[in-house]
Amino acid sequence: MKRDSKKMRVSFDLDEVLFVSPLTHKTEPQLPFPLKYFFPERLRLGTPDLIHTLQQQGYEVWIYTSSFRSEDYIRRLFRAHGVRLDGIVNGERHLREVQRDNKSTLPQKLPNRYRISLHIDDEEVICSAAGQYGFRAYQLNAQDDDWAQKIIDRADQIRRIEHFD
Ligand SMILES: [Mg+2]
Repeated sequence: MKRDSKKMRVSFDLDEVLFVSPLTHKTEPQLPFPLKYFFPERLRLGTPDLIHTLQQQGYEVWIYTSSFRSEDYIRRLFRAHGVRLDGIVNGERHLREVQRDNKSTLPQKLPNRYRISLHIDDEEVICSAAGQYGFRAYQLNAQDDDWAQKIIDRADQIRRIEHFD
């Protein structure tokens, strides 16, 4: 029997992962005037291509950030770069839907609450919580010319393990 056709979800953190400084990382060109004034963040070089590739390969691509940029702002910023996101979790949504009134403080991110199979983040504290809280993470921080291929490979590996279509 064919498994349900839910797509595997991959999520990205923003700060230091997809939003990086041109002083320390290779970046996408700035948006044209006047968009660059509305959306000053600089994308890691290869971000739109990687998201398109993942989506073409049948993944959903989400943003999971603990920042409080609005979902609308994030959606528009990526649209300006030609990218249509499949889902967004910001700090506000996480507090509302994940942390809620839990007495204990949960990790800043719990990707598995959103059925995300792979989350990419720069923070050690989040990546090291992965095992304990039952999600998979890939740590990305410094400039890496091969980052996109590494994430494609990792996602493919997990898709096989989890038996997505
Ligand atoms: Mg970050």
